Amino acid sequence: MSTEPRIVTLPTVDYGDVTVTCPAWCIGHPNHKADDYRADILHQGPDVTLAFHGHDIGDAALVQSPFSTAEIPELCSSTPGVSISLIGRTLDPVALYDLAATLDRHADQLRDLADQLLVILGGGQ
Ligand SMILES: [Zn+2]
Repeated sequence: MSTEPRIVTLPTVDYGDVTVTCPAWCIGHPNHKADDYRADILHQGPDVTLAFHGHDIGDAALVQSPFSTAEIPELCSSTPGVSISLIGRTLDPVALYDLAATLDRHADQLRDLADQLLVILGGGQ
């Protein structure tokens, strides 16, 4: 990976061509459209896809809206966060750890259900 800063110039409706320096984790701006506003510029990292047997359950990715005017941390912010499609929000590190712990608990619940089902089906003790 190159250590040179990646600089991209993106067309916007309200500010014309806008030049930004992408963070190292940004995959580029393939979804940027010429009729986007400067506030729509979004640095996005590669998706982490949550999938099960080919079914896409959701995805997560680093995001940052460097020109956000709303500064709503759960939706768009100039501070980097992790966008979680499952809940339609962007989380900070504390909330992301909380979500991971919650998913751990749900995984335990699924294992408990599997244990119960094994007994019901006569495969358990
Ligand atoms: Zn970028």
